[in-house]
Amino acid sequence: MATSTNGTCPFCPAAQRVYLESPRWVLLRHVDPVPIAGWMMVASRAHRSGLDEMTPEEAGEIGTILAALAAAVRATTGCERTYSITFNEAVKHLHLHVIPRHANDAATTSWALADRYRSTARGEVAPADPQIAETTAEAIARHMMEVGVVRSTALAKVGFRLPS
Ligand SMILES: [Zn+2]
Repeated sequence: MATSTNGTCPFCPAAQRVYLESPRWVLLRHVDPVPIAGWMMVASRAHRSGLDEMTPEEAGEIGTILAALAAAVRATTGCERTYSITFNEAVKHLHLHVIPRHANDAATTSWALADRYRSTARGEVAPADPQIAETTAEAIARHMMEVGVVRSTALAKVGFRLPS
């Protein structure tokens, strides 16, 4: 079911810091430059090109993970709401973005976020401070473990832990 990557996939294994890992998933943050601190990603450990390649076990866990991750992003960043998207285009390996949406930042509302994303990538708009993005991601991972896992037996069953 998994497609071949010829060793070129940056998520096989993740060539960036992993904040939490489980048998089937890793918690990552979006690499710099990123428009907003707290922009997280959950990626499958196995190479899947999209949602339709998930195993039943993966499909059964992802909703639980996204619910807990969205709650952790909100609690940690104080955002009003969260967005979630998945393209698997630049990196053709299943990963879902969870993005804080702050009430006081109209430039990140709905599809305006895509414009902000491109402006940040081009260097026209200042990205989030990398150190703040880092500590925010650490706090989100802590929330997943200390609040999410405690409140949700389903999330506990996913088996997240700090990376070894
Ligand atoms: Zn991959």
